[in-house]
Amino acid sequence: MLNIEDIRKEFPILGETVYGKPLVYLDNAATTQKPQCVINCISNVYKTINSNVHRGVHHLSQVATTAMENTRETVREFIGAESTEEIIFTRGTTESINLVASSFGTTFLKSGDEIIISTMEHHSNIVPWQMLRDRIGITLRIIPLTADCTLDIESYKSLFNERTRLVSVTHVSNVLGISNPIKEIVNIAHNHNIPVLVDGAQSIPHKKIDVKALDADFYAFSGHKVYAPTGVGVLYGKKKWLEAMCPYHGGGEMIKTVSFEKTTFNELPYKFEAGTPDYVGIIALGKALEWVKGIGIENIAKYERELTEYAVEELKKIPGIRIFGTPDGAAVSFLAGDIHPADIGTILDRLGIAVRTGHHCAQPLIEHLGIPGTIRASFAIYNTKEEVDIFINGLHRAIKMFE
Ligand code: PLP
Repeated sequence: MLNIEDIRKEFPILGETVYGKPLVYLDNAATTQKPQCVINCISNVYKTINSNVHRGVHHLSQVATTAMENTRETVREFIGAESTEEIIFTRGTTESINLVASSFGTTFLKSGDEIIISTMEHHSNIVPWQMLRDRIGITLRIIPLTADCTLDIESYKSLFNERTRLVSVTHVSNVLGISNPIKEIVNIAHNHNIPVLVDGAQSIPHKKIDVKALDADFYAFSGHKVYAPTGVGVLYGKKKWLEAMCPYHGGGEMIKTVSFEKTTFNELPYKFEAGTPDYVGIIALGKALEWVKGIGIENIAKYERELTEYAVEELKKIPGIRIFGTPDGAAVSFLAGDIHPADIGTILDRLGIAVRTGHHCAQPLIEHLGIPGTIRASFAIYNTKEEVDIFINGLHRAIKMFE
């Protein structure tokens, strides 16, 4: 049995008030709050071991380097990767996807090639591919949705042809809270010998990830959505791809030798980590993942699913509420009659309840649904049924004000 009250005590921000009301934080899909151990970790690194990594023979540099590399091993184990050479530190999901678009694109793609993405992608899994399209003339093929907002797998199968080079899809929709059948999506692509990038921004906090079992070629995630600090994320890539791909950023650390005539590149994973990394954030990412491991990701997933199901049930009791899709994770998106989502969000905010409203960086999906945006409530391990009740009561009040 999880003791949620004890877990809540680890998050100082949950004791804050907003407009005099206790904070009810239901915007976890945007970013999670940080436990004290992660906050302490950041402060302790600066207080005791701060020194630039990988470059020094002196003690502090070596201790900081070891702590950073320990996180690489923690990440490897957390996502079930084969080797730490396959774990690249980035600034987050967005940078991880841009890295693949740039390096995979430069190395393997040419004009006329095709990439498959889906209707429910976050902008960070659309725009990098469009930029590549505009640079080298590739074509984007889009997986449509079924009436119940799931990916249309039959249509997906029909998108493959001899020009297809990569599939890039989200594991879990940040708008709908729906998990995609990612293993099936990978299998279909692999039957065509096509690699798959999985956007794991919304799956890493809520699911046991095993990149080898999924057989994903790339898996991208952000630390800040899984209780770690902002500014640090991960790109997992199969070694065979990473070895073949050209570097992304140039600079220190990613080189073996440099002369004005020629530069040779460092081995994996450093080939993709130019410049001073956010080693403080990376070390704290390790702490956050250990913290998650301590609770157990399956326990977290089960609890959050129950909480989401409860929220969905309560939402369905409110006349005029329209829920989009059937969420199976930790987020639910809805509209209340014809009331603009921003109006509801503003009133909930005055009651101390933080939800996100708008297009959630997924404008093509919102356009597909033919709506101005949604109200999204998204949950983490520290949320409670009582908070769901406060949210539902707040929603009743907000709706009444517009009647
Ligand atoms: N992909 C999905 C599905 C997301 O939900 C997000 C953020 O909300 C991102 C990508 C981008 O993450 P970041 O802004 O941390 O790079």
